[in-house]
Amino acid sequence: MQSQEKIRNVAIIAHVDHGKTTLVDQLLKQSGIFRTNEAVQERVMDSGDLERERGITILSKNTAVKYKDIKINIVDTPGHADFGGEVERILMMVDGVLLLVDAFEGCMPQTRFVLKKALALGKRPIVVVNKTDRPGARPLEVVDEVLDLFIELGADDDQLDFPVVYASGRYGYASLDPENLGEDMTPLFETIVNHVPAPQGELDAPFQLLISSIEADDYVGRIGVGRVERGRVRMGQSAALCKPDGTHTMVRISRLYQYQGLKRVEEESAELGDIVAVSGVTDLGIGETLCDPEHIEPLPFVQIDEPTISMMF
Ligand code: GDP
Repeated sequence: MQSQEKIRNVAIIAHVDHGKTTLVDQLLKQSGIFRTNEAVQERVMDSGDLERERGITILSKNTAVKYKDIKINIVDTPGHADFGGEVERILMMVDGVLLLVDAFEGCMPQTRFVLKKALALGKRPIVVVNKTDRPGARPLEVVDEVLDLFIELGADDDQLDFPVVYASGRYGYASLDPENLGEDMTPLFETIVNHVPAPQGELDAPFQLLISSIEADDYVGRIGVGRVERGRVRMGQSAALCKPDGTHTMVRISRLYQYQGLKRVEEESAELGDIVAVSGVTDLGIGETLCDPEHIEPLPFVQIDEPTISMMF
């Protein structure tokens, strides 16, 4: 087993308006490799027209930030409803979860729904009490509410021992001390790096890639997004695409991308733990495995139910 110490994969969970987009923009601004204006101009986490119209985030979107020499992939989770196993599949790509809660409003229904799934999957969330700059903010009470919610949702002892970061995405600071506002986002970066386990698995083994979501791109068409669960994958290589019915077809991975800031950037190769996007594979579906053509070993298929929108409360 290898541990990929230069990678952290986290999902972000928040009730709508608790400041997810602003916080991610701020992490982008304060992370080394991306220019400030790049991050602020296009807010990809909110970019779909449908999402804008409704003011909610529907599609899962990925962002990568760099802290020191560690790449942190941040994946968005839909908080409002479960589109048939979508949340589980997204949570399976990550080793940690950021639970973002407004310091004034406290816990809300949309957070609860995804938190329940994250806890059930054994994730250990980091709690980020956000908008601590708000007049009337009550960060300590909110932490108590979060603790009650964890208990109610059946969190185990490890999960109950969650780290808490007090932040203001708007003003760009974070702190471990509710009495003492931080100066920048360093405490949040440090908490992610120290509390989210690095991806683990076999690096020197035939590659496996589980497709967890599908994105559409005007230029390259259908794009599959997922995590490399084993080995290394190269752009242009052939692969077996394993279907849920047990069959497979031979395909070529025409293009391979990783995330940099808000962008997808072509990469020659990727390895264990990387979250990647692939295009040029027709007929690619959610839950399917791309793997080494010489070692056809699909990962377990996560059942996708019909979409349900009534599960907010
Ligand atoms: P999202 O729906 O979770 O992505 O939330 P947004 O990032 O779009 O923020 C929702 C609203 O809260 C916007 O009006 C933001 O300006 C505001 N907001 C975000 N972060 C903060 C913060 O740290 N402090 C305050 N006071 N307002 C914030």
